Amino acid sequence: MSSIRARLTTSFAAALLATMAAFAVTLFVARRARIYDELQRGALAQVELVLGIVGQAELRGRRLAAVGDSLVGPVLTPDLQDVLDEIPGYFLVIRNDGRFLYFSPAVRRFSLDTLTRLQDAALAAPTSGNARVLEFGGREWLVVARAPRSVKSTLSRVAVAVDTRSRDQALSEVLGTLVVIAPLLLIAAIGVAYAIAGRAFEPVDRMINEVQAITDGRSLHRRLPVDEPGDEFARLAITLNEMMERLEKSFGGLRRFTADASHELKTPLTVLRADVERAMSPNVVRAERLIALEEALHETTRMADLVDSLLTLARADEGRFDLHREPVDLEPLAHEVFETAVILGEDAGLAVSMPNLEAATVLGDFTRLRQMFLNLVMNSVKYSPRGGSVEITILRSGRTVAFSVRDTGIGISAADLPHVFERFYRADRARTRKAPTGDSPLEIERGGFGLGLAICQWIAEAHGGAISVRSRLGRGSTFTVTLPVAEIPESSATAVASVAASPG
Ligand code: ADP
Repeated sequence: MSSIRARLTTSFAAALLATMAAFAVTLFVARRARIYDELQRGALAQVELVLGIVGQAELRGRRLAAVGDSLVGPVLTPDLQDVLDEIPGYFLVIRNDGRFLYFSPAVRRFSLDTLTRLQDAALAAPTSGNARVLEFGGREWLVVARAPRSVKSTLSRVAVAVDTRSRDQALSEVLGTLVVIAPLLLIAAIGVAYAIAGRAFEPVDRMINEVQAITDGRSLHRRLPVDEPGDEFARLAITLNEMMERLEKSFGGLRRFTADASHELKTPLTVLRADVERAMSPNVVRAERLIALEEALHETTRMADLVDSLLTLARADEGRFDLHREPVDLEPLAHEVFETAVILGEDAGLAVSMPNLEAATVLGDFTRLRQMFLNLVMNSVKYSPRGGSVEITILRSGRTVAFSVRDTGIGISAADLPHVFERFYRADRARTRKAPTGDSPLEIERGGFGLGLAICQWIAEAHGGAISVRSRLGRGSTFTVTLPVAEIPESSATAVASVAASPG
């Protein structure tokens, strides 16, 4: 049974069948008890009628038995016999000497054997009126007996036997009705249930077809229609739409990332190939060959940097990057970054300063924090023209500490600003590209891969912090990293401070 519709209908049919069976059994049992009750009450009424007629006759002082018993036993006076003969049914009147005074016409027609059995049953039946069920003459009988109320009566009891065939007949009628009607009802109900389930699952079928069409890979921009807002299918459609939006975004990102990465690798590879070809050419002089090899080495280093950055981001995406968290005092770290910035700034003709340096310790990975701070400082140097300035500050505010790098560089346009932390994003590539002069070993080339800030953002967020930028085109930029301050007990804070202060 594959479809939910079929399974639902089968379960419904099984539940309905069980309910109907329970209903039929209950009806049957109740009806049976009722018919039995009715039979018993009918028999008792008959007993009372006969007792009443005979009792009235006795009250009026009349003899019950005809004078002189007949050969078979005492007989009722003919006029009384005539009256009782008019009453239908099987009953007998018994005198208090235990002899039978009267048999109803139906009883008189019994065979001797059946009559004997009835007589025994009549004598054995309790006079309380409680019925007894007995079998004789090939049938089942309900036997009820009652004694006259008057103690002076010459009667011992009147007994009535009721044939239970009428009860069985009524019951088989009930059973017959159930057998005919129940399957019809069942079939009709199953048909209705199947149709309702079909209608209810129609949107699912449509949704399956739509999702199949969308997920073929080329139609991820399409969305599922939301028919009845609020119902379960609408909620499912909205959830699927949201999921597809996320998928579309991440597939797009992945496509862009792969295209950008291949593109970034293609350029240095082409340069590398040209350099190697130049170096291998037999007509090239030694000095030129060395220049070609140096350029090849430079491109190889660039490629290695790119692959390193890609690996860092890929590992970060997968959550496989272990940060070695330890209390890191930002003061010595800032000094180290500042010293590097001063050297880089000298080459670039920039004034580097660190006017504010507030003490703070964060819990983090020293190497990664240094990588992030250096990256920001190097960007400021890269994107600031000669004569400008770069300012590094560390300011503490409550439970957070902010590391800022402010420059008077080329700035970032409002259109580029929201994207600078995206992978491979470079604001105005032509503007930022500057070939190295080769004058200094620390010289940094403008026009990196556009991965530096993405890595910085990951490092800041991995430390529970955030990175932000304020910038105006032509006026300069300020990058700020906020990090939570480490909660370190006094004793270990002193230990950390003394370790940081110790030489080496
Ligand atoms: P890149 O390796 O290209 O510098 P980043 O991810 O570090 O890559 O920076 C992305 C882009 O943001 C850069 O290409 C540049 O256009 C812009 N940018 C970053 N820092 C600065 C800055 N201090 N001043 C001006 N532009 C900047």
